[in-house]
Amino acid sequence: MVDFREITKNSKLYNFHSHTQFCDGRATMEEFVVEAVKRGFTHYGFTPHSPIPFSSPCNMKHEDVPAYIAEYKRLKNAYGDSINLFLSMEIDYLGEHWGATNSFFDSLPLDYRLSSVHFIPSFVDSSEMVDIDGNFLSFRKKMGIYFGNDIEAVVRSFYAQSLSMIEAGGFDIIGHFDKIGHNAGHFSEGIEREKWYIELVEQTFEAIMDNNLIIEVNTKALKDHYRTFPNEQFYYLLTKYSAPLLINSDAHYPELINAGREETMSLLATYGINL
Ligand SMILES: [Zn+2]
Ligand SMILES: [Zn+2]
Repeated sequence: MVDFREITKNSKLYNFHSHTQFCDGRATMEEFVVEAVKRGFTHYGFTPHSPIPFSSPCNMKHEDVPAYIAEYKRLKNAYGDSINLFLSMEIDYLGEHWGATNSFFDSLPLDYRLSSVHFIPSFVDSSEMVDIDGNFLSFRKKMGIYFGNDIEAVVRSFYAQSLSMIEAGGFDIIGHFDKIGHNAGHFSEGIEREKWYIELVEQTFEAIMDNNLIIEVNTKALKDHYRTFPNEQFYYLLTKYSAPLLINSDAHYPELINAGREETMSLLATYGINL
């Protein structure tokens, strides 16, 4: 197990959530490593979107896993003196049949595991999983096609999936645990301030803490959408539970590997959280 607490105590330049050519990242693993070394990063973890049992443009293909592991080993040999590299995946939780506890992931030499919800079951046909993590235009379209435009039910489904994922376990870090708030907030302005929404987030957060998971403060959307995951309105939970935290950029482009970190650190400091 990677000692994240020790790493974050000694370094402010790390990233444990990142994407590359093996999923929907926009550059090669090597380009990300070169950028990380140039910026003085001490630790960098690769988390391609995991293979899943149906085709998806964002997820790594099963057959590419050996090439991914081989490339990781090559880079560790080539750059290991300059930076600590880690092999991981952002594992999609799809329900009881697919997630971090699946034996497929046990067969891989992963250093740690990040797990996230990007898909929820369609309301039309529950055997079909729908990606609700994309941009808002695509989300809005899917709301009509698969979810009868019932945003509250979609939000509840997202957090229900998240709770099942947390209870199933098999991973170390939970990815962007209130990500649905972004698209839901565009669909229905102010939804994240509604009592039932806040209760869902609080309930999810308690489960995360009960299961000793690490929370990430994900800075991916800060530059374009002025928010982190979790949203700033929930930082009080981080303080209340003294939650173990990582600041991750979820970078898909090398130039964004450190995007939003300093602003997020300053913001967290105003809540008494010093990383
Ligand atoms: Zn994600
Ligand atoms: Zn990601």
